[in-house]
Amino acid sequence: MDFEINTKGKKLFLVLSTITLFLMMIITTLLWWFISPRLHEINEILANLALNALRIFYLMLICGTVLVYLTSYTGKNFLILRFFIRVFIRILYPVTFLLGRIFRFSKEQIRESFVHVNNSFIKSLKKKFKPSELLILLPHCLQNTECEIRITIDINKCINCGKCNIGSLAEIADKYKIPIAIATGGTLARKIIIENKPKFIIAVACDRDLVEGMHEVFPIPVYGVLNERPYGPCVNTKVNVANIELALKKILV
Ligand code: SF4
Repeated sequence: MDFEINTKGKKLFLVLSTITLFLMMIITTLLWWFISPRLHEINEILANLALNALRIFYLMLICGTVLVYLTSYTGKNFLILRFFIRVFIRILYPVTFLLGRIFRFSKEQIRESFVHVNNSFIKSLKKKFKPSELLILLPHCLQNTECEIRITIDINKCINCGKCNIGSLAEIADKYKIPIAIATGGTLARKIIIENKPKFIIAVACDRDLVEGMHEVFPIPVYGVLNERPYGPCVNTKVNVANIELALKKILV
């Protein structure tokens, strides 16, 4: 699998998450320094156990960082990558986000960079899927605001008038026989995913919705495509349809 898009801005999140990891190590070392004399007084075995747990924790953090970098920059798939992606998404993301905000990066910058990092993980999976195992999930804001067709119920009602990207995306989904749906919010997106049971999702959305969605559906791999917002958020957004088709060609068996 070799995607051409959405992995170039990963540097910010990678640097922030590395700083986060080192800060976590410094903080836990300081904690250990403070509590270890008390632990030794209480019980020698307990103190040794705590020290070994700390060593394992450090080792995991270091291995995790090295693997994340290797995966992002070499595109190689490592056997234990899944575990570290889990740690990365569940534990490291919120702390890194907080650190990024302290360093005065905008929420948008941090989230977008995280989407790029996520996509580099997805690239390294190197798995192919049948069309029925995929799902293309689109945001409602892609639809032109002047369009009165209720495509959220059935996207096939779109007559492909060319005023927005929905028509071309529906055409691609039909061409490759891939399920496609439009979600007006998180609840509907969840319902669509439960009904379709996809093994791989290509999701188009803004940075906030993409990151939230990736967290929610984990461990289902999500290839995130950030939408363009020439008229501001949530209105007549756009997406590069050719890049989505390119990604599809790489994923499909
Ligand atoms: S392409 Fe489809 S959804 Fe978009 S404006 Fe035209 S008919 Fe409506």
